[in-house]
Amino acid sequence: MKPVVFIGAGPGAADLITVRGAQRLAAADVVLFDALTDPALRDLAPQARWIDVGKRGFCDSTGQVAINALLVRHAQTGRAVVRLKGGDPSVFGRLEEELQALAAAGIEAEVVPGVTAAIAAAAATQRPLTRRGIGRSVTLTTAMTRTGELQATRTAETEVFYMAGRQLGALGRRLRQAGWDADTPVLVVSRADWPDQLASDHRVGALAEAGVLHAGRPTVVTVGVGAAPVAAARPQREIEAAQGAAPRVARLEP
Ligand code: SAH
Repeated sequence: MKPVVFIGAGPGAADLITVRGAQRLAAADVVLFDALTDPALRDLAPQARWIDVGKRGFCDSTGQVAINALLVRHAQTGRAVVRLKGGDPSVFGRLEEELQALAAAGIEAEVVPGVTAAIAAAAATQRPLTRRGIGRSVTLTTAMTRTGELQATRTAETEVFYMAGRQLGALGRRLRQAGWDADTPVLVVSRADWPDQLASDHRVGALAEAGVLHAGRPTVVTVGVGAAPVAAARPQREIEAAQGAAPRVARLEP
């Protein structure tokens, strides 16, 4: 049996997949894919049978069991099976369950990473997730708990919340309860890396205002240091003049 290859497709446009991911996809006989991945990825594996497991019916826990069974069944036929996931397979991608199901059936796996939504949102908006000296830690957190209850935390200088798009007002309240100042910057990005991407700036205390803009779209919410726009650096001349130092002139060595 060939190992099942999990591939992160990235969160948006097909060209964000890694070269390794594209190569493994090109060798696939069967591809089990999710709803969020770009249909243009099909061009990378026109020979394969593509099975949509992101559709309704596969979304709940019974759906997960069905996906696990499909993975095992196809792998056991000896075909090259790819499990294509949106973003990165290791981030809120139910990878654990699928690896367990394969291991229980004695089937090996390989995982090819992808660009997760938080990273795509940071790149698209030019908001670095880490900032020297002031933003030294980042967390990826799901706002949804198993019971469907919303949860927020404050454990890092920058926190990125997944799966909170439908409840931004409630998330704002939970963030306040978790200790974030009402003035803390929040960046909301929906459909990051798609042509219709939307990004908006808010404050923790007024996060509810983002609800209408991003309604019904996959959304990540970045809170804290990494949400702030990058300010233009002051020219070196100005800084030195303020410090009373003579302007330095770059000199090329002969
Ligand atoms: N494995 C995926 C996450 C899957 S969970 C990854 O690494 O990105 C689904 C959640 O991901 C959505 O509720 C949303 O919070 C986020 N998401 C996925 N694609 C997105 C996109 N293009 N823009 C913004 N958020 C996205």
